[in-house]
Amino acid sequence: MRITIDFDRCSSSALRMEIAPEVFELDDDDMLHVLNPEPDRALHDAVRRASQTCPKQAIALFD
Ligand code: SF4
Repeated sequence: MRITIDFDRCSSSALRMEIAPEVFELDDDDMLHVLNPEPDRALHDAVRRASQTCPKQAIALFD
């Protein structure tokens, strides 16, 4: 799995980022960072949930 973020869509709301804190982080300026763009299989379900529930559809996943 590989994660990309469409920063034109992302509102840095952090609404769904707590689903996978090992992968997504907001910095002190509310900028989203992908800590691990190719997460281990154990994190895939959480990353899919984050992607599916992102209100801006900003998280794209590739196999
Ligand atoms: S939930 Fe979506 S819009 Fe909000 S910070 Fe995460 S990627 Fe960006």
